[in-house]
Parts: sequence; structure tokens; C-alpha cells
Amino acid sequence: MDWQEKLNQKGLRLTHPRRAIISVLERADTSLSPQAIHQRSLDANEEIGLVSVYRTLELFTELGLVRRVHGHSECQGYVLASPGHHHHLVCHSCDATVEFSGVEDLSSLITHIEEETGFTINEHLLQFSGLCPDCQRKTDIRD
Ligand SMILES: [Zn+2]
Ligand SMILES: [Zn+2]
Repeated sequence: MDWQEKLNQKGLRLTHPRRAIISVLERADTSLSPQAIHQRSLDANEEIGLVSVYRTLELFTELGLVRRVHGHSECQGYVLASPGHHHHLVCHSCDATVEFSGVEDLSSLITHIEEETGFTINEHLLQFSGLCPDCQRKTDIRD
């Protein structure tokens, strides 16, 4: 995925803090809190401030470049987002976070909720949690 190009399309430059945050998220296999992203940037000798991490995450969320995930140990984490309709699965044992394509078969549920509540629904947040294949294997070995 070419971040430079994505930001250019939005008229934004790939500044130093933006590049640092993307590179931390690209190497992570779990969602990360702003504090964790900041710490990993510092560990990689990237001198960026926590405020700038927050600001960048906010911008990236608006642009759809990252997505907020409710992690098992981190209540509010961030992961890189693919374009389009996607959701995440989080392992409740190791916090591994995996993206999958959103499907449109929620429409009957949405219609049902609209009928019941009178709301017009235009957005949804959906996340699954479970046990990832690695953790399933570890559980098998223990038994
Ligand atoms: Zn796991
Ligand atoms: Zn969806």
C-alpha cells in the first residue's frame, strides 16, 4: 500500500511523524494505543511527541487510513485500514487483530432495527472477538 500516494491524493505530505506512525503500525500485528505507538516510535529513534501521535491518528482516522479497534487489553487501539468496507477480528488471548471484508448481509438486520426503533441507520461499528489459530493450537497442546 503506497501511503505517500494516498496522502498526496488528499493534498497532504508524508511528514516525518506521519511516516513514523505508519511504519510502527505496519510492523504491529495487534492494535496499538496512542501511547504504545509513541513508545515504539521512540524505541525506533523517531523523535515525535505524543500530541503529534494523537493529532496524526485523528487525521488518519478521518481519511480512513487507520481504524479504531476495541482491543482486549488496550481498550482503544489503532490499526492500519484497507480501503473500503472492512471489519476486524480480535483474539481475546493474544490481541492479534485481523481485518476481513465487510459484507452487506447486515441489511436485513438493519431494516429490522430501523423498523423497531424508527431510526435511519447510516453507519455501523462491528467487531468480532475470538481465539486466533495460534492460540487455539497452544490450548490444544496444554490439554
Ligand atoms: Zn491469539
Ligand atoms: Zn460492515
